[in-house]
This record gives sequence, structure tokens and C-alpha cells, in this order.
Amino acid sequence: MTDNLRFGCTGCGKCCIGHHVPLTLDEARRWAADAGQVIVLIEAFVTDGPGMPPEQREHVLRRSHPVQCGEAEARVSVTFAAFNPGRCRNLDDNDLCSIYEQRPLVCRIYPVEINPHIPLRPENKDCPPEAWQQGPELIHGTQLVDAGLEALVQASRQADRDDIAAKVAVCQALGMTTSALKGNGFTAYLPDMGVFAAALEQVPSDDSAPWTLHVEDEALVASLQGYGLGTTSEPPLYYAFIGF
Ligand code: SF4
Ligand code: SF4
Repeated sequence: MTDNLRFGCTGCGKCCIGHHVPLTLDEARRWAADAGQVIVLIEAFVTDGPGMPPEQREHVLRRSHPVQCGEAEARVSVTFAAFNPGRCRNLDDNDLCSIYEQRPLVCRIYPVEINPHIPLRPENKDCPPEAWQQGPELIHGTQLVDAGLEALVQASRQADRDDIAAKVAVCQALGMTTSALKGNGFTAYLPDMGVFAAALEQVPSDDSAPWTLHVEDEALVASLQGYGLGTTSEPPLYYAFIGF
């Protein structure tokens, strides 16, 4: 965030179409209880090694959890997100949110970026040009002007840190233990929501499942195996690999 920006939501509803909305653990519980589908997105890196962006060291370490991967330790970042391949199930016929007062944190924060290392650029957002030509000042210099909005961003970052161990435990309990290498892609799972909801209600305590990295590039496989990391290039059967 480097330029002064003003912003006024036009209510166009575009941010509610075709976006998987990251959820806190509590929000994922509510989404599941409301019969919504959650998509699980996973990426991993090695501390000061493969996949870790050095300039984001503190940020990525805080929102990740150590796991065993082959003979080495990797750190896994897990996103539980509302699965919205089309219109969000809560977007009504008038393009209004039907759970507005209870909508997820990320919906309240949009279009502001949650990752402190990603600058807010209007061209990367769904909001129409006029949204950036109206409303109060959103960003002054590098600071969010609205203290309430800043508090929501901080709450979202804190939830990422507070929830990561439980999210990893849920993944392990459900056998979602193949990750992509951060920067190389994500693995994506669509868990059975009955099983997923049960695991969310009673987060398993076993934290010892082995993990594998899904990597398709042969040179990268060789490099990661040199670190002692466990890898697979097999076509995925129960997850999708979304490569960059
Ligand atoms: S929950 Fe509401 S605000 Fe969030 S994506 Fe769905 S319709 Fe939009
Ligand atoms: S895309 Fe932007 S302008 Fe449109 S509803 Fe979402 S936040 Fe508002």
C-alpha cells in the first residue's frame, strides 16, 4: 500500500461471485452447520529453505505449522474457504448478502489485502473504477484510515495464527496430508462436509501424521528430495493440484 486511495463500495456484488472466501475456524464451523461446502487449500515450505519467501519470513512462519515430511520438517499453511465457484450461496437475487450481519471477516475487509506484503492495487480487485473515485479515504500513505477496518485486518491475521494447529490436525484426521510447495501451487480438497463438520466440532489431538509434497517438475523433485522431503508426482485421486 503506497498511494492514497479512496473507496466507496458500489454494491455491484462481483466480490461475491467466483471467489473462495477464507474462513476462520469458527466461521468454517458456521459455514458447515449452514450446509455450505468448504474447500481446503494447502501449501508448505521449509523454514529458510524451499518455498519460503524470505521477505515474508515472519508472516508465513506465524500462520504455518510444523509437520513431518519424509525425513525433514516442513511447515504447512492451511486455508479453509467457502467454496464459491459461482455465486456465493448467500448472495441473493438483488446481489445483496443475506447474512450481512454475520458475514465472514474476509467479506468485511474486502477489497483490503490481509497479507501485509501484498499492496492493495485496484486493478487486482473486482471493484469497478467508480468505486475508487468515491467514498472516504481508505488508505493514506501506507496506513488504513479506518481504525475499525484495521482492527478487522488484525483480527483476521490473528485468527490465521490461532487456528493453524487445529486446521492441520483436522487435515491429518481426514487424510488431507499432501501439500503443494508454496510458490509452486496449492493442493485443494473438497471434504465430505459431514465428516469435516464432525472433525471441526472435536478437533483431533494427534499431531503426528506424515506429509507429502505434490511436485510435478522433475528438477524440483530432485532438489526437494535432497532436503530429505517426501514428494509425489502421481496423478492426484482425491485432491486437485493447482500449479502456478
Ligand atoms: S457471505 Fe455475503 S459478503 Fe461474503 S461472499 Fe457471500 S454473499 Fe458476499
Ligand atoms: S466488488 Fe467492490 S464495489 Fe463491488 S460489491 Fe464487492 S467491494 Fe463493493
